[in-house]
This record gives sequence, C-alpha cells and structure tokens, in this order.
Amino acid sequence: MQVARTRDDLRATRASLGTVGLVPTMGFLHDGHLSLVDVARREHDAVVVSIFVNPTQFGPGEDLDSYPRDVDRDLTLLEKAGVDLAWVPDVEDVYPVGSCTRVRVEGPLTAVLEGASRPGHFDGVATVVTILLGVVDPDALVMGAKDAQQVAVLRHVLRDLGIAVDLVVGPTWREQDGLAMSSRNVYLTPAERAAAPVLRRSLTTVERLYAAGERDAETLRSLVRRNVSAEPAGSLEYVSVADPVTLAELERVGPEGALVSLAAHFGRARLLDNVTLPAAVTPPPSRVQ
Ligand code: AMP
Repeated sequence: MQVARTRDDLRATRASLGTVGLVPTMGFLHDGHLSLVDVARREHDAVVVSIFVNPTQFGPGEDLDSYPRDVDRDLTLLEKAGVDLAWVPDVEDVYPVGSCTRVRVEGPLTAVLEGASRPGHFDGVATVVTILLGVVDPDALVMGAKDAQQVAVLRHVLRDLGIAVDLVVGPTWREQDGLAMSSRNVYLTPAERAAAPVLRRSLTTVERLYAAGERDAETLRSLVRRNVSAEPAGSLEYVSVADPVTLAELERVGPEGALVSLAAHFGRARLLDNVTLPAAVTPPPSRVQ
C-alpha cells in the first residue's frame, strides 16, 4: 500500500491505478469503514482511502480537537484490507494557504436534521468531498448509508456541479448488539455503551410496525420517542420519518417509502442511526465474527 501526504504524492501514485473507488474517512477506522473498502474493490481496479479530520465540517464547540485519531493503526488496517493508496493529508494539503473556495449547499435538504443541528456542517462536507474528488479523480465515491443525509446532500452536489462520479452507498455495519459502528462510540462510558443499542431496537420496532401495515408517520416517530425515553442514559435529539430524497417530513409513508432517522445523546457521544422503509437488505451484524 502506498501512503501519500501531499496532493502531488497522491496524483503521482493515482496515475497508475486504473479505475478507482474512493472511500473518504475521518480515520479511527472500524469494520463499517472497511466494509466500504470491500464495496469499492468489488467494482474497481483499485481502492483509495483518505483519512482526514476535516475542520470545515465541525462547528464551534464541537469535537474537532478531541475527535479520536490513530493513524498508525488505521494504516495497518487499510494495508490488511488490501487498499492500494491511503491519502493522509495535513490541513494545508487539502486547504492550501489562502484557500478561499467553499461549496455552499442551500435549500431545505440542508436546513433539516443534521443541517439544523449543525449549521454549516454540510457546506464543510460538500467542500472537502469536492476537493477530494478533484485531487483523487476517482470513478466512484463510496459512502455509508449510516450518514443518510450526507448521501442525499452529496448526490445533489454531484448533480448540481456536474461531477461525473458514481455514488455508491454501502449498508450500515453494526456491533453484535445492533449499535451502529461509529468512531465516536469510544466516547461512551460502559453504562452508556450498554444502553445505546436502544436506538437500533427502536428502529427495528418501527420496521416491524411498518411491516404490519402502519403508515402513519407520527405513530412511527412516537414509537421511537417512547422507546428511547425509557432509557435514562440517552436523550433523543430528533426522530424523523421523511421522504428519502427530499427529506421533507411525511404525514404518511407512501409508495416512495421513507427514511427514518434519529440523533441521540449518550453522555459526550452524539449518535446517529437510520433505517429505510421498506427495509433495505440487512448485512450481517459484524464484518469480523
Ligand atoms: P467517518 O469517518 O465517520 O466520516 O465515515 C466515513 C465513511 O464511513 C462515511 O461514508 C460514513 O457514512 C461511513 N460509515 C461510518 N460508519 C459506518 C458504519 N457503521 N457502516 C458503514 N459505513 C459507515
């Protein structure tokens, strides 16, 4: 595996790689990230993974400084996973001195859910992904369904800016007890870690109720609120039953289906999870058994 730091290093190696699937990450890798490497490799000659904790997608008071980092461990995992090229840039390699170009994503898609809780977050995401695509020039951008709004926003950005890259979405990987894998799970105390699977359980209950014929969106939202409020270690920030493309809240789940997404606080950790209705095919709970 080659490891590049600067844009020039990256481009020099990328030139010999054939078709490329790019997996952007913020590092502190887990099996969810590695499952995206597998997805990328299935369809492309080579896999490029970037590890970059992107400052422009963090708001004031968020966890930019304390975000967990372990690049040596990450590189060992990527090497084992058969990644061809890891890009581990410094901030100045992504945002050169004097950098003044930002991608701003307007409209309802970024005004709701994560965009409402984290103003400017998706501008930072759209900006960094546009830069990564410009430098790496991949054939596919591979992202996780766990960050469903991120996928919806980036789909728009690619279309709006005419960026010709396939957006490939991999399913959410989970711990054995259902908790969605996340680098931020290390923030959980043992008691919070034990309580956090309530999020997945609440979404599974929604899936069951939907399968039994329930279509009233507020009934589904209330179910999640009730489930999570029974767990004192956690507090629900939002639950949404929305159109999967526009993310507009629904009154009833129609033929277009729905994205059911939530954010919740467990101590220092802010956790996200979601399911789609009808349910997408679920992967096994963990990549490494
Ligand atoms: P992050 O390092 O958290 O920015 O995530 C990098 C990529 O991995 C994003 O496309 C995420 O959606 C994806 N990802 C994060 N957690 C998971 C998971 N549990 N399963 C699958 N993909 C994930």
